[in-house]
Amino acid sequence: MSSEEPSAATSRDPQPVHARGAELRTDPLTGQQVIMAPGRSLRPHAFDPEAKGESAPAYVETCPLCPGNEHQTPPTILTLTRPGSQTWAVRVVSNLYPIVSAPGSKLENGEGPAPSAATGVHELVIETPEHNRDLPDRDAEEMRLLLEAFAQRLSHLEGRRATKHVVIFKNHGAEAGASLQHPHSQIAALDFVPLEVRRRVRAARRYLEANASCVVCDIVRHETEARTRIVRESDEFLVFAPYASLTAGQVLVVPRIHAPSFGTASRVQREDLGRVLPALLGRVRDAFAGPSYNLVLHTAPKRSRNDAALHWYWELTPRLTRTGGLELGTGLAINTMLPEDVAALLRP
Ligand SMILES: [Zn+2]
Ligand SMILES: [Zn+2]
Repeated sequence: MSSEEPSAATSRDPQPVHARGAELRTDPLTGQQVIMAPGRSLRPHAFDPEAKGESAPAYVETCPLCPGNEHQTPPTILTLTRPGSQTWAVRVVSNLYPIVSAPGSKLENGEGPAPSAATGVHELVIETPEHNRDLPDRDAEEMRLLLEAFAQRLSHLEGRRATKHVVIFKNHGAEAGASLQHPHSQIAALDFVPLEVRRRVRAARRYLEANASCVVCDIVRHETEARTRIVRESDEFLVFAPYASLTAGQVLVVPRIHAPSFGTASRVQREDLGRVLPALLGRVRDAFAGPSYNLVLHTAPKRSRNDAALHWYWELTPRLTRTGGLELGTGLAINTMLPEDVAALLRP
């Protein structure tokens, strides 16, 4: 052979190279490029069995989020209870270790041409009093209260004058960045719009100008016709592995009704979401051996709440693989699982 490039036949990779070649796809929501390289999908570290919740007990005396330890968390901001119950079902507190400074706080030792303080509000949502009650195990009432807490805090935090963008997210398991095992999620009200969020807004606006329709609505239409990447369908939501999934196992939960902000979701939509999310997470838990995951709400920045280009949705990212040097060096995403295969795996 004259070529110095290693061919599939001479590669020392012990895994067989997938019959289908690597493919470059572009995410219409971000403009981000992703290499679909399914031949690499079965390497070690593919699944992270560590975060399995089944073995954890329902109550842990030393857990600051378990009932009885309320004094160990900052004061409660919001408490929701089941009808007729005396004890809390969902609690929202200030985050003890906020990622943003309190507004007005001075930046000490700031360097660079224009040092500025990252200010905002960072809250912790304690989703359930039970230490081991993961999302797939929740009933409709628990989900109703959790989504109610998200909606109430989103509305309240957008009411702050300084707030520019609110992000609601859940880190589950160490691989997803969670430092506490007790089921919780987080809400950050940022006094600035992050660059990545602005990039998504710009991409959606450009798409609207070019096509006279919302990019997310068009994706929903396309996926509904193609059917190859659908994970689950309900009256209100389409759940699918996006065509240009940036990571292995990524799934979007998209409302069929076009709206820029989760804040306008109806009671019917929230009830449906309360069924869809636990069912989806249950399939993910089974299919990927209880992986760590991130669940992130993409909702419009505050000043774009009425922007017709934007369409809210939830993004689920199981942490099945790790980022390497190619990603860091090029900004490319590498996805080792075809979304078509992910959808087949996660379908009920
Ligand atoms: Zn706990
Ligand atoms: Zn739309």
